[in-house]
Amino acid sequence: MLFNSNCAEGLLSWFDINKRSMPWRDSKDPYAIWVSEIMLQQTRVNQALPFFNRFMKAFPSLQHLAAASTQQVLKQWEGLGYYSRARNIHKTAQLVIENYSGILPNDYEKLLSFPGIGPYTAAAIASIAFDLEYAVMDGNVIRTVTRFCGIEQDTRKIGTRKIVQQKIDQWIKGYPPSGFNQAMMELGAMICTPIRPACQSCPLAFKCVAYRSNKTEQIPYTSKKAKRPHQAISVAIILNDKGEVLIAQRPLDAMLGGLWEFPGGKQKNNETSLQALHREIKEELGIEVSVIEVFMSLNHAYSHFTITLSAYLCVLKPTETLQIPTAKASDQIKWVSIQDLENYPFPKANKTITIALMKKFA
Ligand code: SF4
Repeated sequence: MLFNSNCAEGLLSWFDINKRSMPWRDSKDPYAIWVSEIMLQQTRVNQALPFFNRFMKAFPSLQHLAAASTQQVLKQWEGLGYYSRARNIHKTAQLVIENYSGILPNDYEKLLSFPGIGPYTAAAIASIAFDLEYAVMDGNVIRTVTRFCGIEQDTRKIGTRKIVQQKIDQWIKGYPPSGFNQAMMELGAMICTPIRPACQSCPLAFKCVAYRSNKTEQIPYTSKKAKRPHQAISVAIILNDKGEVLIAQRPLDAMLGGLWEFPGGKQKNNETSLQALHREIKEELGIEVSVIEVFMSLNHAYSHFTITLSAYLCVLKPTETLQIPTAKASDQIKWVSIQDLENYPFPKANKTITIALMKKFA
């Protein structure tokens, strides 16, 4: 067998000596491990660390998290992106209180039944928090296993991932699941890196097919992703005569649900940015605004599309009243002071606008 007991023992010893210290790694608390695994779903360790510490300070236990409001949870998640993770983690905490007396179940299938927990995360929590024998396959593991075994098929294909999963399901047998999984992921992150892997320091080098056949640059093969579509967005920073600004909350079931933003929307093919602004404000809020100046323009990339966001400083037309207009596309809208903007959770591009506004009107 290619991956034998010498490989497994070498891997575990390497991990023992070289593992990075992380707050969730130094703990066996299932709650901390669960929060970390949700954060790490789309985010690198170094990026997630400050958010993890902030989140755990705000919600030190599952009970604290379940008792918080959605707004409080989103505020702590602000800046980390993929906000459905925050809504799901909050919902799951409440389900655990309701159905499991506040204790995260040590059962893979039950973990899998919670919102936001897929096979990868369920396997990670089951193995790392409860030492259940489930092998975890993340991007680091896929890279390491395909190189080690010399698997040259496209890693984007489900068939290739199945082969990798079958391999690690075999390899983990008889070894401590928590240590084995973390060692595999850490080896991929620290040694078997995407570019120039440090094979000289790798405990698996003596058996690794890619290393021994000089193919570490060719493996893994991953086909190119389709280019992400681009959208131009126009938003209005509408000020009233008290110096307050109008913000709208996105519906909970929409993308970025529960977060706040400046009203506006997508530019259509035949429109200028300004035409889109006036049309969107009329459609969304039923009011007309006068543009004072172009405030800023910025680019932002989401996982499936990119945007250019143009923000305009506006006031209501004199014919319009200062009452809160009826929002049509949002959950609620509010006039808030510019200093108060920092108390609301905004998605990243809108957050950049709030910071610039606070500086301008400080
Ligand atoms: S020897 Fe090199 S390519 Fe093979 S698993 Fe180790 S780091 Fe990766």
